[in-house]
Amino acid sequence: MRPATIKHQVSSGGVIFRTNADVTEIALIAVKGGNVWCLPKGIVDKGESPEETAVREVREETGLKGRIKDKIGDISYWYYIKGENARCRKTVHFYLMEYMGGSTKDHDAEVDDASWFPLDEALAKVSYKGDREIIGKAKEMLEKEIHDSRYKIQEKENHAS
Ligand code: ATP
Repeated sequence: MRPATIKHQVSSGGVIFRTNADVTEIALIAVKGGNVWCLPKGIVDKGESPEETAVREVREETGLKGRIKDKIGDISYWYYIKGENARCRKTVHFYLMEYMGGSTKDHDAEVDDASWFPLDEALAKVSYKGDREIIGKAKEMLEKEIHDSRYKIQEKENHAS
């Protein structure tokens, strides 16, 4: 067989979060017959920015509308495309997104399920190491934000007294 060709794909996705009564949840999707839980993402289309792709893919795959707050980071992995005898290196950009509306009931028919999970449950549930690292970073970013806003309130109170 001829040697495999090398392809490079760029996708973009998001960690969409909501906080209720001090519990922060994020949305995951289930694929491969419901056996694999992962972050929503998809190919960056021509003429689209990675940010636009992330918002579109999160909306399509999870049914949820999000607003980007920050970039989390990138992951890369290799996989083999059998039909094309190609080895593909995929880079995925991930963004932290604030939940604006919508329901996971409206997830894409192409995914098996979409659901909210408390951050630590999501960390235990995801199938891929790269996704786990991204969720870990998102958790640190969210904890820092909570810490900073508490610090600002404290500062204001100290100045007022
Ligand atoms: P996209 O969602 O970007 O449009 P896709 O659904 O066609 O792409 P991938 O989700 O990248 O394709 O899946 C291609 C292969 O890579 C599958 O075998 C999948 O199991 C594997 N894969 C998917 N995500 C990861 C990851 N985060 N780390 C390692 N392997 C992954």
